[in-house]
Formats: sequence, structure tokens, C-alpha cells
Amino acid sequence: MAPAVFKTVMPLDGGGWVRLPFTSATFFRGVMSNQSNQGKNTDPRRGLPSVSALLETPRIRELLASHPRPLVVEAVRATLEACRAVGPDATETRGELPVIAEKAAAHFENVWRDRIRPVINGTGIILHTGLGRAVLPKTAVDALAQLDGCCNLQIDLDTGKRGKRNYVTEQLLCRLTGAEAAMVVNNNAAATLLLLSSLCAHREVIVSRGQLVEIGGSYRLPDCVHQSGALLVEVGTTNKTHPRDYAEAITDNTAALLRVNPSNYRVVGFSKSVSIAELVAVRGDRPLLVIDDLGCGALVNLEEFGLPHEPTAQDSIAAGADLVCFSGDKLIGGPQSGIIIGKKHLIDRIRKHPLTRMLRVGKLTDMALEQTLRLFFEPETLRAQHPTYRMLSMPLERVEARAEALAAALVALGTSLECAVEPAESAVGGGSLPDEAIPSAGVKAAVSGLSADDLARRLRHNEPPVIAQIRGDRVMLDMRTVLDGEEAAIVEAFRRIVEHVNST
Ligand SMILES: *Cc1c(COP(=O)(O)O)cnc(C)c1O
Repeated sequence: MAPAVFKTVMPLDGGGWVRLPFTSATFFRGVMSNQSNQGKNTDPRRGLPSVSALLETPRIRELLASHPRPLVVEAVRATLEACRAVGPDATETRGELPVIAEKAAAHFENVWRDRIRPVINGTGIILHTGLGRAVLPKTAVDALAQLDGCCNLQIDLDTGKRGKRNYVTEQLLCRLTGAEAAMVVNNNAAATLLLLSSLCAHREVIVSRGQLVEIGGSYRLPDCVHQSGALLVEVGTTNKTHPRDYAEAITDNTAALLRVNPSNYRVVGFSKSVSIAELVAVRGDRPLLVIDDLGCGALVNLEEFGLPHEPTAQDSIAAGADLVCFSGDKLIGGPQSGIIIGKKHLIDRIRKHPLTRMLRVGKLTDMALEQTLRLFFEPETLRAQHPTYRMLSMPLERVEARAEALAAALVALGTSLECAVEPAESAVGGGSLPDEAIPSAGVKAAVSGLSADDLARRLRHNEPPVIAQIRGDRVMLDMRTVLDGEEAAIVEAFRRIVEHVNST
């Protein structure tokens, strides 16, 4: 049987398109003919154009210019089926080529609307997981754009023989953090699983009860430990864990003391956690590993950007951690990836584990991460070169000025659009610095006749999609996360929406 896919069909009531589960052409026709049987349908095919005639219309040719022909043909066929099913009462669609072409185009765009492509982030969340987390630096994007041929991913240009994957990226990580060795995998969840699987399987890993993290997308640290084959030993309490809690839990079967950075939540008030330096002291000269799962992986001191202190990877290495792991697309601001740094003999052991091959990254990730890491060698230019740090450090006055300029352009669109500049609060996002609101400014807007939900949906349906927040009966665009140069597309989106509303 054909796998279930989702098809869009036109409902009889003439309302919006709906998505129905659909398994085969027969099923589809069955659904449609059930509907048509309800009408006084005598000759359902009368007056409908052919598929080939529709494919020749300007509207469909426009689609064919940028989309695969079979997908366009499928949409045209489905639209004709739906028109047939509506029956003779729906005279407005009968025989009118441009009208049916428009319906087919709308159907196509509805089905394929969610294809992955650039969107404008007006949410104020700098590392928005739903929007692809970090905005890649231009140097990284340029490197990817050059990749229209082969590359030396795993060949030694000197000998012509098989070379080391990710070698330069790993060297950059060592230089930046002071670690002996580094490796790159698919994400931080993979990094944690890999290092526990290769070094701690069947043995105990001691973790504070205050650090049993859950991250969005159903990642939970305890599940990761179980999956690795290691045995989780919880110590301390939710709010307080002391060095002696770890010391008392150590047995002959203990493999590691694992600290997990509470990156997306905070335990405040009467609380105590144990630092890496303290864990190294607890370990003493026992043959145990001290591992730091940093999560967000800062490489620079965030206090310089007006944010609270976040432990850096180099701090963990300097404090004596044997291994440190973190994400490549949180505070590093690169592509989705996970990074492990630490002692060379341990990284060598990890590399030999079968999971390493399964979790490795491809050339796109390696190139983008290498270019992103290079920027951290010149911290004074990070603000200019690195989008994440540019957004984090953009002065409030600058954000306000951009909001004023956008509001002025929107006001010019007419009286059915109401807008004003308002204070906003941006967030770092990406599961980092959870309680840190960054003062910001945004444009709050409403279009008469549209609810805030409606307006937000129409903005998302714009090309390019604009993602706004909803604030009461208004939408809000936080200008901290809107990139320079995206303003014109936002104004154009509102212009289309206002025009459409005024014409109906
Ligand atoms: C973000 C995070 C993860 C998951 O990292 P991904 O790169 O999204 O897989 C795991 N642990 C901690 C502590 C995190 O902050």
C-alpha cells in the first residue's frame, strides 16, 4: 500500500483549503465522488479545461519555472478533481482557465508552503530553535556558496591519500579553548551520548539532582545516560548539591563525575552547585573522569556584551575538566553541531567508538563551523562580523531608531494600518540565559478588519515569511532580531496585506 501522504482538497463550503490524510488516487477520488453525489450532478466534467491547457496558462508556467514539473502537474490534477467534485452549482469555476489556474496555484502553494527557506525573525528570540537557531556569519554562508564542486573533506592534499576529516576545525577549537584535542559531531545531544557511550558504558556516572536537564525536542539527560549504557547515580537535592555528595557516591564502578550546565533554567534562592574546580578536587587522584556538559558553549565572556556570566569552554578546560561538550549553534552561533574538547588520549578513545561514524558531520557543517570559529580569534570584531553577537550587543538606541524608521514607512501605507514603536524584551533563546531579558524595541501593528492572529498568519504566508509575536490585539516585530536590509520586505508584506484587505 502506498504510504500515507497529505493532500489538500477544496471543501464544498467554499471556505479555506483543508488538509486530509490521503493514501491513494482511488481514495482521493472516492472522497470527491462522495461529495459530488450530494449535488444534482449530471455531467461533472462539462466545461473543465484539460491538464495541458492549464499547464500553458501564465500562472502555472510561472510555477513551472521554479518548481519540479511532476509536483505542479499533481496540483493541477488535484484541483481539476476537486472542481469536478464541486458539481454544476459552482458555476464560477466552470471553464474559466485563469480561475482554475489560480486555484491550482493556490493549492500548490498551500501544499508546499512549508518548504524550508529564509524567513524574517521578528520574534526577538536571537537563537530561535524553530527558525534554525543561529544566523550564520556571512563568511560561513560565502564558504557554503562556493561549494558547487568537490572539496578536500577527507583527503591529504600533500600525499593524495585519505586525510583527516574536520582537522582544521578541530585545530581551531584547540587554539580557542586551550584543549589538547577536539572533535565535532552532529549536535550536543550526540556529543553527550558519544562520550558517555565510549567512556562510561556499564559504569556509574554521578550527576547532581539539580542538573537533570530536559531540553526542547524531548532531549532529557537521564535518557541520554541510559541510552549510552552508563548507570546514572543521582546525588544531592534539587536546590543544593555539595562536593561531599559526590565524594560519598563514588564506588569502584564509578566512571565519571558529570556536571551539566543548567543552561535553560535557573535554580535560585537557597541553592548550591559544585564547580568543575571542586569536582576536580573531589576526584583527587582517583581514576575518574570529570566531564562538563556545557550546553550553550560560550567562547567569549558574555559580560563584555552586557549579559550575565556564562561559563566558557576555556574556563572548564582551565579548571581541569577532562572533557567538555557543547552545541555549535547556540552561543558559538554556527551550524547545528556538537563539539567535544579535552584530553587527547580520551578523544582518541572516543574516535574509535562505532557511534563516531554514525554521528559525524558532513562537509557543509565542517565548512560553516570552521568559518564561524575563525571569527572568535578577533573578539573585537565579533560585534561587526558575527550576527549573534551583533544582535546581542546592538545598543537600544539603535534598535529604537530602526523601529522608528520601520514604523514611519508603515504609516505611509494608509489609515487601515495602525502602528507604533513600543518597548520590547528580546531573549537569547536556544536554551541559554533563560532569565535574561534584553531591552529592545519593536513595531506594534494592526490592520483594520484583521485579528492579530489573522495578521500574523498573513505575515507568515508572505514571501519571504515574516514571523511576528502576538501582543494582545496587535502583532509585534522586535527589531533586534530583524536583520539590516529586511525592512523593505516587511513593508512590502504589509503593503500586500493592506491592499488585499482593502480590496475585499
Ligand atoms: C542545548 C543543550 C543540549 C542539546 O544540545 P543540541 O545541540 O541541541 O543537541 C544538551 N544539554 C544541554 C545542557 C544543553 O544546553
